Formats: sequence, C-alpha cells, structure tokens
Amino acid sequence: MVKVAVVEGDGIGHEVIPVARDILAAVRPDFEFFDVEVGYGLWERTGCACGEETMAELRSADAILFGAITTPPDPDYRSAVLQIRHDLDLYANVRPIQGGDVDIVIVRENTEGLYSGIEWTEPDRACTVRVVTRRGSERVARYACTLAKSRRHLTVGNKANVLKSDCLFVEVCMAEAARANVPCTARYIDALCLDVLMRPDRYDVIVTTNIFGDILSDAAAYLVGGLGMLPSANIGERHALFEPVHGSAPDIAGQNIANPIAAIRSAAMLLRHVGDPASAAAVEGAVRRVVDVGVRTPDLGGTAGTREFGAAVLREVGRGKA
Ligand code: NAD
Repeated sequence: MVKVAVVEGDGIGHEVIPVARDILAAVRPDFEFFDVEVGYGLWERTGCACGEETMAELRSADAILFGAITTPPDPDYRSAVLQIRHDLDLYANVRPIQGGDVDIVIVRENTEGLYSGIEWTEPDRACTVRVVTRRGSERVARYACTLAKSRRHLTVGNKANVLKSDCLFVEVCMAEAARANVPCTARYIDALCLDVLMRPDRYDVIVTTNIFGDILSDAAAYLVGGLGMLPSANIGERHALFEPVHGSAPDIAGQNIANPIAAIRSAAMLLRHVGDPASAAAVEGAVRRVVDVGVRTPDLGGTAGTREFGAAVLREVGRGKA
C-alpha cells in the first residue's frame, strides 16, 4: 500500500492539488491518501507553518504530493518549503522542461547553496552565506549523471569565474561525469539562461546550484507554455516530494483559472517514482490529448476552468482504462 501525504498549501494549491489527487486516485484506487496542513494560512492562525508533528506526518508517507506555499518577505517567517526540503534531505530537485521539441531536465541542488539558511541582519547590512559542500555536490551530480547516462549529455550551470563555491561545484560535477562516462560541459549560468531559451535543442540534462536552478527553470518555462506546465520531483534517499514548479499565485487564486497541468504532471512523476511508469504515461498521455483537442486554461489561450480541465483529464484517463 502506497501512502501519499497531500499538502494543498496556499493559494492555487487549494485548486490544482485536488485535481491532481483525484486523477491519482482514479488510476491507483489502492493508494491511501491523507491530508497534511502546511503553509502561510496555518502560520497566520497558529504562528507555525510546519511544526514537528507535521514533519512526522510527512516522514510517515511513501510520497508527498505538494501544492505551493506563500512565503511573505517577513524576517520572522521561516520558509516552510525550504524547511521541508532540508529536514527530509530532498537533495535533488528534478524539473523536466518538456513539450513540443523541447526535452530538457534541470537537476537543481536543493539543500544548500544560497538557500542554506545561514543568514543574519545587522543595522546596515544583511548577509546570506552560500555554502557548497563536496558531499552535497557529489550526490546531486551523481543523480544527474545517472539521468544523463540514459539520455545524452550533461551541462553544469555555474558562475565559477566569480564564485569560489562554484569552482568546487564544477570540479565535483566534472569528476562525477568522467567517472560515469557521461559527456559533460560547464557553462556560465548567465550565458546559459539565454542559450537555453534560444537553442533548447543543445541541452539535455543540466545540473546546477540551488538558486541558479530555481531561476533557470522558471525562465525555461517560457519554452513550454509557462509556469502552469512545469512539474517537479524533490528526491532524497528516504523521502520524495512532488510539486508544481510554480508558487501559490495569489494574483489568480480562488478564480478557478489556474492551470493544473504542472500539478497533474507532478502526480505522474510520483507514479513513476513508486514504480508505476504505465500509469504515469497514461496520465501524461491523457493531459496531452485533452490539450490537443483544445481544452485549455486561460494561460494557454483557452477558456476551461481548473476543475473543468481536471474533469476532462479524468474522463480521458477513464477512456484509456476502458
Ligand atoms: P508564482 O509561481 O506563484 O506566480 C508567478 C506568475 O505565474 C503569476 O502571475 C501567476 O498567476 C502565474 N502562474 C503560476 N502558476 C500558474 C498556474 N498554475 N496557472 C496559471 N498561471 C500561473 O510566483 P510568485 O508570484 O513569485 O510567488 C507567489 C507566492 O508563491 C510567493 O509567496 C512565493 O514565495 C511563493 N512560491 C512558493 C513556491 C513553493 O511553494 N514551492 C514556489 C515559488 C513561489
């Protein structure tokens, strides 16, 4: 029995995650789902966005389906997303950028770099420490190399010309790639951002540090129809969490217009992770067919609502099973 923790989170998480969960439940009625409340809404009510009890619930799951969390720029608020990634040691954030002719996978180091959580403020300056460790770099590089081995090649996104911490990251990634016999090139992240947009066919698997991966993947969403399209997996040795790349989108929350594709595709990644590639492919195929017949949310130029799009995918999945 696969136990799935479901965290809607905040904003459009309340809209896109129920859609993804219903589709998961339709293809795998044997899964056990349980809801876990995390997020800014909870923090406003209780002063805690994700406490130890909540972490214990998340740890008890075989996989976590996660929406998005609002993180206000408030120095007293600790990002629950970063806390969960750290506490569950979800070191590889896998973000496929796929659609049309584009097929790139960004593997973002997910536990350190500029998001290490070591920061402080003084009256006239504020500091954030960027930590890159050999261990952290090795394990994410190894993950990216395993992926690249069954594909084509690896690119290491970095800023080693300026940052000492990236010299170590590049050295470790190149060594791992040589060991795994994976063709590998290092590229500076600023030029890489532009080149990925102009010549996506040049890229296959890209491994990079935490904030660079965060920014590069949002920019690369442009290639495949925007943020509503990008799923992701956060992988650790013992835990795994699946979430759309987008945030809680307060500007469109509560209007039934959010695109649930990123969330549905995240559910498909969850299925693959628990060893069910057939159901994952069935869900991804159903999404493609629904989009192809013109059922689309407004961000893709259509008029379908979040729930209506989800219902169309559910019907299509059902047709595939019939
Ligand atoms: P966002 O991803 O929420 O939204 C950026 C833009 O993309 C908005 O205009 C939004 O309407 C649009 N968009 C996003 N998802 C969409 C979808 N599924 N369908 C259609 N349009 C979509 O980023 P933001 O506005 O910078 O951040 C909003 C909040 O989300 C912030 O509090 C931020 O900290 C948080 N956030 C959380 C996560 C996470 O939980 N993993 C990730 C990113 C941002």
